[in-house]
Amino acid sequence: MATLITEESAQKILANALPARMLIDGECVPSRSGETFHKFNPATETLIAEIPAGGVQEIDEAVAAARAQFDHGEWSRVSNRERARMLFRLADLMERDTEILSVLQVLESGQPLYEPLGKDIPLSVEIMRYYAGWADKVHGSVIPLPSANGRPAHAYTVREPVGVLGMFIPWNGQTMIAAWKLAPALATGCTVVIKPSEEGQLALLHLGKLIAEAGLPDGVVNIVTGLGATAGAALSSHPYIDKVSFTGSPETGRRVHQAAGTNFTPVTLELGGKGPQIIWPDADIEHAVKMAAVGVFANQGQICGAGSRILVHRSIYDRVTEELGDRANRIKLGTPFDESTQMGALINANQMNRVLGYIDSGREEGARVVAGGERAREVGYFVQPTIVDEATPDMAIARDEIFGPVVAVLPFETEEDAVRIANDT
Ligand code: NAD
Repeated sequence: MATLITEESAQKILANALPARMLIDGECVPSRSGETFHKFNPATETLIAEIPAGGVQEIDEAVAAARAQFDHGEWSRVSNRERARMLFRLADLMERDTEILSVLQVLESGQPLYEPLGKDIPLSVEIMRYYAGWADKVHGSVIPLPSANGRPAHAYTVREPVGVLGMFIPWNGQTMIAAWKLAPALATGCTVVIKPSEEGQLALLHLGKLIAEAGLPDGVVNIVTGLGATAGAALSSHPYIDKVSFTGSPETGRRVHQAAGTNFTPVTLELGGKGPQIIWPDADIEHAVKMAAVGVFANQGQICGAGSRILVHRSIYDRVTEELGDRANRIKLGTPFDESTQMGALINANQMNRVLGYIDSGREEGARVVAGGERAREVGYFVQPTIVDEATPDMAIARDEIFGPVVAVLPFETEEDAVRIANDT
């Protein structure tokens, strides 16, 4: 996608977004304690922002604001049509600020610009429009009953908003995941407290500004930045929220589920995985290899639905492995604003070291690295796209969610074999 955004213009967009401020009851605020934590650009390892470290107090204030709007505020009296109008306006504003949202997401994620600019943000706009269209179309049913005393009778159902929602957003695809959660919640009249990931706040804080510009009343959407162990724990265990919507890792999901369970608060979890892709001998092999590579390497492999195991029929195993290796070797890693870049950096040093650790453990257990396998640059958290064969289904590299550009290629003989391996994680 042709774009005029350069590293320099991106820095201007960043400067306009700073200082980073939380959104609580319509106010852009620092943390009450004044404490912040650092956010680095994964592609350059430079500090890009001091993020307010909200905690229990800020979560309490945000929940109180959302509660007041839901129970007796202006939002509780806004008609369905008016809600739809605001959400259509929000979608227009997101579209207007596509470049700003994309640049902020790139600076905090290290992904190539074409990903948010061409996919995440346009899709987020469409999600918002789609649900805006539903705002005045959610209604119950009228159910005819046997007549009572000779008179017609009916029962009816009413659909009501759940209430105040606590939303946990991961750092990958943060704007789109926020849109998936926010759009249906707002369309149906709920209010929200968002806790972004420590690694992905700037794009969401800009989204908060657009929400205010779209005319949503103060306190309908609140965004509290902070660490998972403090702000996150306070939100998941808060007694005055009506539902938790969590997207993130299985480990944290379990903790959030337990914390919410102490108040019997319902929870929806969207977690990680180890998605299998299966290639049969009758496939168009060239096309299958191309799409399998997209399936695992998009967003540097940091996608919950990444197809990070490729199961290949024994009769074509060598050919597919070799072609996957060639394709991986041709992927161009680079800085996000270079238009020729196909793959960017991983989110932080921990994640890079974790991914490299999995590759090492695969080697130690007897797997063979066919392509990649190393850190790609001295500066920035870049890892080469990596293809591993001769892995067995019991190896960590073939079982655990690695969340990086690494794929284990496993052979199978029969359909039953393929299904068993695919389900066995
Ligand atoms: P994570 O679990 O580390 O963090 C998710 C959120 O939980 C963050 O906001 C974090 O601050 C918060 N958190 C951390 N500790 C907490 C605690 N003790 N109490 C409450 N909140 C806490 O996940 P991540 O690293 O941000 O994202 C990567 C993971 O998310 C991967 O496993 C990936 O598969 C998954 N993911 C799933 C989907 C999906 O739709 N299923 C989409 C994207 C990512």
